[in-house]
Amino acid sequence: MAKDNGFLYVVATPIGNLDDISQRAIDTLKQADWIAAEDTRHTGRLLQHLAISAKTIALHDHNEKQRAASIIQKCQAGENVALVSDAGTPLISDPGYSLVRQCREAGVRVIPIPGPCALITALCAAGLPTDKFHFIGFLLPKSQQRQNQLADVPAAVGTIICYDTARRIKDTLQDVALVFGAERELVLAKELTKTFEHLEYGTAEQITTWLEADPQRCQGEMVLMIAPTPKADSEISDAAQATLKLLLAELPVKKAAAITAEIHGMKKNALYKLALQFTGESE
Ligand code: SAM
Repeated sequence: MAKDNGFLYVVATPIGNLDDISQRAIDTLKQADWIAAEDTRHTGRLLQHLAISAKTIALHDHNEKQRAASIIQKCQAGENVALVSDAGTPLISDPGYSLVRQCREAGVRVIPIPGPCALITALCAAGLPTDKFHFIGFLLPKSQQRQNQLADVPAAVGTIICYDTARRIKDTLQDVALVFGAERELVLAKELTKTFEHLEYGTAEQITTWLEADPQRCQGEMVLMIAPTPKADSEISDAAQATLKLLLAELPVKKAAAITAEIHGMKKNALYKLALQFTGESE
């Protein structure tokens, strides 16, 4: 008799505090025939902590497409495979998309085992609107690329959530101020669920000042959240805002607002006010 297919379990693991692992995640890892991990040594430490001795397979960005075939074969032969990443939910700025997609196409059932995820953990404690939000993953490493990445986000998406590194955060804050204006409300969530967990609220400049007050604050893992466009701005179309931002990089506020008004057939005044918000200048 043919053996029933096994399953692929997508298992979330802690983002810092090991107590955040769910009972269901522990049970799933215990009963899995294989654990596909981004970094087998890193996951080995978690498994050791949980006293689980399963066979591990390395699955990372560079081998995922090829590894997927052998994982699917295992599932089709009746074995259960659990996919984990170094921290949090697999596939969220982590490997696994290609594997899950290929499992779906091959008819292998994919079962999610939910748990920690840095972006949701950060958002639920930030006090920023949660009805609509837009996750852009990791910010790009170079300043100009990063500014373009941020400027491409339409105004109506709600709170914007980004992953960033300690090394780049101060440059990122400068770019955020350039693109969204010096007055935009931001929240930086650091070291979530860990000993030095901290959420800092303020403008780009205020958060930079806080970071600079102690070199240790520029270390650790972080999620940056950008509050949605203030109400008055949302009446100005995304296209007009994008034009205004581009022109402001080259022209004084008045001129940039006037040209944008002409291109988009709008009144100058609202654009002028928005331009002041973007640049942090006063009237
Ligand atoms: N899959 C993970 C998840 O579910 O959130 C994200 C993995 S991604 C490679 C790692 C990034 O997530 C870090 O650079 C940081 O931006 C964010 N992150 C992970 N753990 C965090 C924590 N404890 N506190 C703040 N940010 C964290």
